[in-house]
Amino acid sequence: MAGELRKDPMTGRWVLVRMVEEPPPPDGADPDPCPFCPGSEHLTPPEIAAYRAGDGSPGSSPWHVRVFPESNPYFRIEEELVREGVGMFDRVSIRGASEIVVEDPGHWVNLADMEEDQLRRVLWMYRDRIADLQRDGQIRSVVVTRRHGKQGARIRHPYSRVLATPIVFDDLRAELAQAREYYAYKRRCVYCDATREELSAGERLVRATTHFAAFIPYAARSPFELRVLPRLHACAFDQVSDDQVGDLARVLRDLARALTKALDDPPFEMVLHTAPNLSVKVLQSEWETVAKDYHWHLELTARPEHWTTVGGIAVNETPPERAAQILREAAGGDSSPPA
Ligand SMILES: [Zn+2]
Ligand SMILES: [Zn+2]
Repeated sequence: MAGELRKDPMTGRWVLVRMVEEPPPPDGADPDPCPFCPGSEHLTPPEIAAYRAGDGSPGSSPWHVRVFPESNPYFRIEEELVREGVGMFDRVSIRGASEIVVEDPGHWVNLADMEEDQLRRVLWMYRDRIADLQRDGQIRSVVVTRRHGKQGARIRHPYSRVLATPIVFDDLRAELAQAREYYAYKRRCVYCDATREELSAGERLVRATTHFAAFIPYAARSPFELRVLPRLHACAFDQVSDDQVGDLARVLRDLARALTKALDDPPFEMVLHTAPNLSVKVLQSEWETVAKDYHWHLELTARPEHWTTVGGIAVNETPPERAAQILREAAGGDSSPPA
């Protein structure tokens, strides 16, 4: 079984059910040579995209950023899109894409010490891949995610994963519904409002630059959960500007450094949330106001595996105001909220 998407009609949540043919190698067994390192290109599936110096053709010069399909993919471009009912249940095939973005030729580089130019290239590659995948009318949403320091991770080389899916997944769907509802009532973007609020309150703010605000949300579900929002309203990451990309690269590197310093290099997960593929609508009225009500952003969660819950209720034992102060201190020594 390659996999399939199933919906739980009692919770409305989707899950990807699949069978892994080969069990992963035991923890700590790093493949040698690393398939993501320069010189090992033949060990990966064929390249989809890359940035290189020179004319950019494969093999012409060393690559800076390289993209290829994941070898044991969560979603497949070759799969036929099937939406069907199984009795009362809903099932969708895994038509989509799962791509690996190798972020740097260097094996040991991480977000906290990546060159700014390099991080900019990674962000542009996210933009390019999202735009390219969204030309496919069967792809409804694209999510970019990266893990740092994941326990038992097989490959340490820095990479991100681009997931293009035939449905809008739960987290994004919940955000879209919430944003739409807020907009319907107030005629304002909830993310713009929250950013203004956090900038003026200051106590949960970690970083504020010309183009971005990074803060711990008022009701963060786990300690050190960060949201990074562009100050200029835009629903989709594909509309990002040159200035914004430069600024975002600095902000992300500074946040990664602050987390590394404050929490002794914790594992963290970063997820890019952008509007769904607007050229594909299943229902006519869907996303009528999305351009005005939704706002792309990044979410960073430190130690995602350490969430505390009781009976399914999230419990955060480091108040967001305290966590923000700790990160501000680590980022620049000044613990007072930015003016
Ligand atoms: Zn490597
Ligand atoms: Zn907004």
